[in-house]
Amino acid sequence: MTTNSSLGASGPIAIAIDGPAAAGKGTLARRLAAAYGLAFLDTGALYRGVAWLILEAGRDPADSIFAATIANGFDLAAIDGADIRTRAVGAAASVVAVNPDVRAALLSFQRRFASHPPAGARGAVLDGRDIGTIVCPDAPLKLFVTASPEARARRRWLELVIRNPALNEGQVLADIKERDARDRSRESAPLEQAPDAHLIDTTHLSIDAAFAAAQALVDPLFAG
Ligand code: C5P
Repeated sequence: MTTNSSLGASGPIAIAIDGPAAAGKGTLARRLAAAYGLAFLDTGALYRGVAWLILEAGRDPADSIFAATIANGFDLAAIDGADIRTRAVGAAASVVAVNPDVRAALLSFQRRFASHPPAGARGAVLDGRDIGTIVCPDAPLKLFVTASPEARARRRWLELVIRNPALNEGQVLADIKERDARDRSRESAPLEQAPDAHLIDTTHLSIDAAFAAAQALVDPLFAG
């Protein structure tokens, strides 16, 4: 039987991709979704969206009651075109992500996406921090994508410095370490590798090499 979180062979196939910030999981997830005709959900964008709405309202992301209210009424359309990729929104996202009521509100959205992928796709790729452990614990394929903090800071700095030339790589490394610590130590759905997840360490891997490693794991799901 297929439940919300249990997406077996008869239902849409869910691929769960977790890992810390800037490990390359988003790029990998997008490429896999395009290559196999699957829907893609960047679940970090949901947490960033909630954080962005809170900051726009001039409120504190640590105000748990306000954050839960925003998460309960959350709709992706409300953040259409919003600049959710800034350092400030990333930091605020990891603060709201500690809140169990925010997580509960976003959990049902994510499970619905996995069990009913849009546009009739035959499955979905979800990337985040707790997809393999909480959102889709029965996903037939789980990947845990990681890289050293220094490699991740360099990638994130290269993305951000285009818009903020004064940004120092050391600041980005400090942000990444702070966010890792918060994501790994929180009580509710902390970032951790599911026991049945395959590890892909991208510290010394090109995007193409990481994709090839993932493809070798995804191909059997669609064989025959
Ligand atoms: O992936 P991204 O860096 O955009 O995520 C922003 C923040 O959202 C993360 O640092 C994390 O705190 C939170 N998040 C989460 N669970 C997810 C996805 C993101 O807690 N599934």
